[in-house]
Amino acid sequence: MPLPLSDPSLLRRQCLIDGDWRDAQGGATFPVDNPASGETLARVADGGALEAGAAIAAARAALPGWRALTARERARLLRRWYELVLANQEDLARLMTLEQGKPLTEARGEIAYGAAYIDWFAEEARRVYGDIIPTTAPDRRLLVTRQPVGVVAAITPWNFPMAMLARKLAPALAVGCTVVAKPAAETPLSALALAELAQRAGMPPGVLNLVVGTDASAIGGVLTASRDVAKLSFTGSTAVGRQLLAACANTVKRVSMELGGNAPLLVFDDADLDLAVDGAMAAKFRNAGQTCICANRILVQRGIHDHFVARLRERIAALRVGDGLAEGTLIGPLINQRAVAKVADLVGDALAGGARLLESGTAPGGPGFFHAPTLLTGVSPGMRIFREEIFGPVAAITPFSDEAQALALANDTDAGLAAYFYTADLGRIWRVSEGLDYGMVGVNETAISSEVIPFGGMKASGMGREGSRHGVDDYLEIKHICLGIGPSPDN
Ligand code: NAP
Repeated sequence: MPLPLSDPSLLRRQCLIDGDWRDAQGGATFPVDNPASGETLARVADGGALEAGAAIAAARAALPGWRALTARERARLLRRWYELVLANQEDLARLMTLEQGKPLTEARGEIAYGAAYIDWFAEEARRVYGDIIPTTAPDRRLLVTRQPVGVVAAITPWNFPMAMLARKLAPALAVGCTVVAKPAAETPLSALALAELAQRAGMPPGVLNLVVGTDASAIGGVLTASRDVAKLSFTGSTAVGRQLLAACANTVKRVSMELGGNAPLLVFDDADLDLAVDGAMAAKFRNAGQTCICANRILVQRGIHDHFVARLRERIAALRVGDGLAEGTLIGPLINQRAVAKVADLVGDALAGGARLLESGTAPGGPGFFHAPTLLTGVSPGMRIFREEIFGPVAAITPFSDEAQALALANDTDAGLAAYFYTADLGRIWRVSEGLDYGMVGVNETAISSEVIPFGGMKASGMGREGSRHGVDDYLEIKHICLGIGPSPDN
């Protein structure tokens, strides 16, 4: 059945290598399925080691020409790309909902969010300034320049199939790097459509290459072993991030890692209850709970606990679960059956450990990978659901007594990506903001991300920052130039 796109040519099915759309060796393909129905949307080239090698060679060959352009020339091309993405927002959003499952309104939001990184870095790359350092000797001048690292490998996950890729491609390309990207096998269509629009914007052959395929370790093995790849930028799970870090050690690659989170959301007794409930709902249930900055643990002070839980319960019971393309759907399917089983397993473990099931909303039966929105209370630090990313629509509530205990519980994890808290006390806002070991902290707010802020984590949540003026740093090398100018002719 044809997909409901106004421009069907956005549906690409091959790898993009050196400006050509190419089949995989031997014509191998794999299915991309709709998680809301289980139906196959398209079959896509199953690229592997061979395609990864060819893509690296193309990116290496394209590097000198791309790097030599002025920042303004590259910025103009990125700006055209940004405009094409926005002009095709509806088709891109539909494609995303079809392969990833999120409600269409969220998919539209992700396209605008991802596009904003392209626009931002097109501008930001024009301000990659160097330094002139006051000299230590009269016959020398000391300069610092910043130049592109070279060929960048980018590996991205399925939960934000467009934005996670745009956040890497835009800064890398804007500062003069060339790229080989590998999107998740669950959601290649969004990445391929983004690359198609880059082609239409005039991206020269080899500057942006995309390898889609199911053998992630073969593709990753070639990308991490290659001496021609200067840098790996990865977004995904901490477990895979660790493996890739180790694999990059041999060639001493530059690495950026955007890994898993275990975000706490703290609600203090003095919080504005309406605000806290709204924030918790948004941070917990966006993308059916499949975000790295999801409120994984909701910690609530005892004085407000029962009011907060009652309000949250009402809101959860009203959530409509279904196909993301259907009008009124607030929660789509999870990405696959394994994800549903994992979430059910975490809920089962919590219940066996003494947690209470307060609300278990309804999920459609039949085909599709749905999990009902769920509310658990009495969750304690010994339970797996407190320690692991839930990645599903389950709100897990843990009570606390005072600020010191709240901070201790919040920081009791290896993750350090995002944290949120609700309070009206100004002194507490400062103390808790400073005490949370997290790269991003939302105070009385959970909508924390945009292209202008540095997105990234502390501890095992990774290294590097995406977005903001810091976002170009991960794709630049600092070079010192010491200029000997000889003695003054007057001496
Ligand atoms: P994942 O399993 O780690 O996969 C991420 C990417 O890595 C996919 O493209 C995957 O390919 C690839 N991959 C898997 N094994 C590989 C290997 N051995 N070598 C090279 N590449 C490999 O993560 P996910 O399940 O897609 O995404 C969810 C995770 O991402 C969560 O932990 C979430 O918190 C994290 N995340 C973090 C951020 C952030 O900014 N910090 C943002 C979004 C998501 P295949 O799809 O082909 O397996």
